[in-house]
Amino acid sequence: MLYRQRQLDLPHGALETPVLFPVRNIGKRSSDNTPSYAGNIPEFSAAMVNARSIRNRDPMWNRLTDNVTLREEMGVPDDTIVFADSGGFDFTNEEVDTTPRKTLQTQKELEADIYGTVDVPISRDNRKVENQDRIDRSLRYAIEASDHHDSDALLFASVHGYDPETLRNSIQYLEKNGDFDGYALGSLVPIRTDYTKVTKLILSARKTTDKHLHVYGLGGLVYQPLLLYLGVDSFDSSAFIRSAGNRNYLIPGFGGEELHNIEDMERLPCPCPVCGNQTLDEVRENREALVKHNLWALATELRRFRYVAESGREVEEYLDLRFQGNEVTQRAYQTAKQQMRRLT
Ligand SMILES: [Zn+2]
Repeated sequence: MLYRQRQLDLPHGALETPVLFPVRNIGKRSSDNTPSYAGNIPEFSAAMVNARSIRNRDPMWNRLTDNVTLREEMGVPDDTIVFADSGGFDFTNEEVDTTPRKTLQTQKELEADIYGTVDVPISRDNRKVENQDRIDRSLRYAIEASDHHDSDALLFASVHGYDPETLRNSIQYLEKNGDFDGYALGSLVPIRTDYTKVTKLILSARKTTDKHLHVYGLGGLVYQPLLLYLGVDSFDSSAFIRSAGNRNYLIPGFGGEELHNIEDMERLPCPCPVCGNQTLDEVRENREALVKHNLWALATELRRFRYVAESGREVEEYLDLRFQGNEVTQRAYQTAKQQMRRLT
């Protein structure tokens, strides 16, 4: 089994991994701003922010360069761990409007603990040549960031590829030519329903490096146990916000349930601080309550996996059960299992 537990020593404290970085939409104009969760859920004392959206939001950026800290701006404790990615996801359709140096400066100004390098995501719709060009540009940006990185924050190189070889070559190239504390896999969100492909890519990266491995954007309820099983150290997700926007209620061990499908129940099947004392109708009508519950659901899923691993039970038996209810995810897990067997 590739599942592993480690600890990252970061400027704002130690962080136990594997860990989820809940996405904070701070800086985004359309910001469904995330209700405060830091301090409420012990293992989520971390956040993923987008360096580019914050920098491009003038009034906020002025406050931050004046005398307000990012953590004050977010209303979270001073020791909150922050992972600032470059905002590369926006470069799927937009021109790159930053440089590795400028992004490093922004990440430093934000006092982030982890910096993701500038990247240009690839897309299934692109021609192969176009994607290869994007992959090469991301590699150049990463090396440039490595050359200029001089703070005690960790630097993760953002890497992309739609086949295991490209990904392996990219990581090996960066290992040889730069100095990185870990790697962050991008461009997986658009192909997330192709579980076999995603699994192969993650395994390829995991085999190539023993360093910290982050997966951008796939930290939802169903992916989480798969990522843990594949030895991924961290992931981020905004699924808890998006799901709540669609009135989707996440149930650990299952998935999302649209709340209007449930009519005649008074209590929800969850003892979290949100659902424990409120009725179904109260939760249904309160988007913020839904967001908070959904985060608790993600925490529960993570805790369960840890419990199974810690208590010496067979993780594979647990996952056989976990994925039983859904044909697609069951097939994904079976594929992952076969690929793992081939590895060892
Ligand atoms: Zn709940």
